This record gives sequence, structure tokens and C-alpha cells, in this order.
Amino acid sequence: MARILTGVQSTGTPHLGNILGAIIPAIEMSNDPENESYLFIADMHSLTQIKDANTLRQNTYATAATWLAFGLNIEKTLFYKQSSVPQVTELSWYLSCFFPFSRLELAHSFKDKSDRLEDINGGLFTYPMLMAADILLYDADIIPVGKDQLQHIEMTRDVASRVHAKVGDVFVIPEAKIQKDNMLIPGIDGQKMSKSKGNVIDIFQTDKALRKQIMSIQTDSTSLEAPKEWSSCNSFAIYKLLASDYQIAEMKRNYEAGGYGYGHAKQALFELICEQFSEQRKLYAYYMDNLEEIDQALEIGAKKAAKVANGVLDRIRGKIGY
Ligand code: AMP
Repeated sequence: MARILTGVQSTGTPHLGNILGAIIPAIEMSNDPENESYLFIADMHSLTQIKDANTLRQNTYATAATWLAFGLNIEKTLFYKQSSVPQVTELSWYLSCFFPFSRLELAHSFKDKSDRLEDINGGLFTYPMLMAADILLYDADIIPVGKDQLQHIEMTRDVASRVHAKVGDVFVIPEAKIQKDNMLIPGIDGQKMSKSKGNVIDIFQTDKALRKQIMSIQTDSTSLEAPKEWSSCNSFAIYKLLASDYQIAEMKRNYEAGGYGYGHAKQALFELICEQFSEQRKLYAYYMDNLEEIDQALEIGAKKAAKVANGVLDRIRGKIGY
């Protein structure tokens, strides 16, 4: 049985792109009886960018509530907050002492972020060592990642091998599993949906706010009466990701026939989202009103995770002289 470990960022309320592109597929994978899965909210990584305690806490809750609302099974998946097992920072320190500064300087993600962000702190630079600790602390075998994270997995393998060369074997060397290209969910402007682009659909808002967001999907100025091109329409692009084949065919006919405005198409999308995610929206609201239930769910995972973490730390402490 392989142990699969995934970290999720807690940058705010997950949007439709996160849900369809990452959360639903990850939950499906975690239900595979062949695997043992670990899923943690990377709230210590968040500190590199978020310095407001309430925002950080709120983001963690919103992220956890989404995973729970979409049916993450906490019996089957170890679900925890990174910060609930602070042993990870101890391991991160050990790893940093075995890893050359010059190799950290080669990390693409640091270069990329330091070009983009205002707050370029030391945490951002040593992030690959915290990520390596996230993985090695739990004897994880497989790490599903996008191509952009591949270098970090290579660094994780590299630092583990360096430790082994000096003190003997202690870690499980993990392997990356490259995710096939995520289904790309477009936002209300047709670009990739992304919080930083301000083009997201947040399904957890009130009906009124959600409808307003959907009504603001950018469409062209073809008149209501005229036939419309569904293949280039931003509203249709999102609709087809959620609708049944029958609904898609009907929507295409409506576009082609004319007399069907973009307002109608957006209203249909709004209704489809409400219908399809009705259960998850209710559950999300329930969890956000009952934060202690989120705490309890995460605490169950944290207790189990801490046991594994302590075992791995016991193995390494002795080897390095503590
Ligand atoms: P981010 O918050 O951008 O790091 O995204 C978290 C996860 O959601 C990653 O696995 C992304 O690949 C996925 N994701 C984010 N935006 C989209 C999108 N527009 N379409 C598909 N997947 C997305």
C-alpha cells in the first residue's frame, strides 16, 4: 500500500477552478482503497505571505470546510493542519543543515516569487526545506504534483540522499507523481480562473452574490435576437464543464437559434451551479458556522500524524547526535 501525501495551500475560499481542477479529483484518488492518503493544509507556508492572524485562521477554516463539504473521508485520509504538528520545523532545520545554500539558490519557485511578491522573506527562500520536511516526516511514498512543483520533489530526494550519505538510511525516498494536466477551468473573463486575476466564481457566496458574479461573465455584444457562437462564449465554456450531454446539446441549440440572450445562458449556469452544489454549499455554511467541528476533524488527523512524525524524528535525532 502506497502512502500518498498532498499539501494544499490555504490562500482563501477555494474557487470553482480549485474545486473542479484539484479538490474533486484528489478526493476521488483518496478514496482508492489501494492507497493510504495524507492531506494537510499548508498553513505554515502561508505565513510567508499572510501576516494577519485572523486572515490566516479564516483561510484555513475556509479551506478545511471546502474539503469536508466535498466529502473528504477523515477515517480514510489523515487530514490535518501543518501547524498542528510543529515537529515539521525541527526536521526542516535538520534538513537545511544538510543542504547546500547554492542548491537552494537554484529553486525556480523562489526566483519566480521574488520577481512577483513584495514581501521576499527568508521563509520564502527556505520553503523547499519545509516542503521536504512535510514529506519526509511522514514516510510518504508518492507525492502528486503539478510540473511546477517537480523541482521541489527533486530537492526532497536530494536532501534525503545527502542525509543518508552522512548518517545512514533514515528516510523513505519519495517519488513525484506528475498530475496529468489539470482540467483548466476558465474564469469570468475566459482566462484561467485564479484568485490573483480577480476572475473567480465563488460558489459559497449567497445566491444573490453568486448570481451577480455569474452575470458579470464577459460576453460580446451580439443582440438578443441574433444567433450566437457558443464555442467562443465564456459562459458556455463554464457551463459545459458542469452540464450533462443533453443540457449541453440544448444550450448549443439555443445559441444557434437566436432569440436567446447571454442573460438567459448565465441564468441557466447560475441555476446549474446552485443545483449541482446545493449539498456542498449547505455543508460548507454549516461548517463555517460550527468551526469547532472543523477543529475536531483536523485534530483527529493531527494526533495520528504526530505519532508518525515522532517516530521519524526519533530515527533521525539519534543519528545526528541528539
Ligand atoms: P492555487 O491556489 O492556484 O495554488 O491552486 C490550488 C490547486 O487548484 C492546484 O492544484 C491548481 O492546479 C488548481 N487550480 C487552480 N486554479 C485552477 C483552474 N482555473 N483550473 C483548474 N485547476 C485550478
